Amino acid sequence: MDRRRFFPLLLTPVVGAWAEGTGKVLRGRLTQREGQPTVLTLPGGKTVSLDGDEPTRGVLKDDRLQDTDFEVRGEYTQPGQFQISPIHTRSMFVWQKGERLMVTYWCDICYIRTFTPGVCWCCQDNTRLDLKDPDAPDPKP
Ligand SMILES: [Zn+2]
Repeated sequence: MDRRRFFPLLLTPVVGAWAEGTGKVLRGRLTQREGQPTVLTLPGGKTVSLDGDEPTRGVLKDDRLQDTDFEVRGEYTQPGQFQISPIHTRSMFVWQKGERLMVTYWCDICYIRTFTPGVCWCCQDNTRLDLKDPDAPDPKP
């Protein structure tokens, strides 16, 4: 047998097992409905109910994100039910013009970034939805 062909075949499953990320990625349209869990409408029309920790739920209920091209990371807890990874793992994104942007909130007065909607903990003003390139630095005051 040709050694150069044999070795990659043998090694591939081992490398794949730990190089693979832990969370599943889902992308679709964020669909918010009054009094019902927010769902992700996948390409093809299937819907998946989204849930997560409290700050994650805050984002899912933010009506500024209604109908966005939305990406989440996490795990299925049962068919049609998806648990988004905890807020600190940065598992929610919006796609805009081919760019994947992190869902964040920004206070223009204090230059403080948060990850769930609400008032700024410093000045108590409402934070602004700020879809952010994950690699871009924060603006300086
Ligand atoms: Zn503030």
